[in-house]
Formats: sequence, C-alpha cells, structure tokens
Amino acid sequence: MRRCTRCGSELNERAKVCPVCGTPVDGERAHLRRMVVAMLVAAVVVAALLVVRSRQLGLGGAGVTSEAAAVAMWAPLH
Ligand SMILES: [Zn+2]
Repeated sequence: MRRCTRCGSELNERAKVCPVCGTPVDGERAHLRRMVVAMLVAAVVVAALLVVRSRQLGLGGAGVTSEAAAVAMWAPLH
C-alpha cells in the first residue's frame, strides 16, 4: 500500500491524488523531478561561484581578463 508523501494517508493503488489532502500521487516521477531541480540549483550555484571568482582573479591578475579566467576555470571541468 502506498502512502501520501505529504500527510501519510494510505492511498488506493490507482489514486491520482491523495483523498485527504489532494497532493498529486506520482512517486517515482516526483522523486526524479526533485533530483533534477537539485542538480540545476547546484549547477547555478557553482556557475555563480565561478563567475565571482573569475572576477576577483580578473581584478588581481596582470593582463588577465575575467573572460579568460572564466574559460581557464571551466576548461578542466569539461
Ligand atoms: Zn495526503
């Protein structure tokens, strides 16, 4: 028997939504979606950190543009 991820109520195997709280029942897909969202958030955070760091390097480095620093930092990751 499946259970609602929100309120824990027992769910009919064919139920599309929880009869108690109305939460959509799509177990595996909801889990996958959370994984994708988490990875996207992580990618955005890493990109933001790289941009900030490349700007700091650009200000401190002699003759090194922030764009070149960004490329140099991205290259090992790809
Ligand atoms: Zn529920």
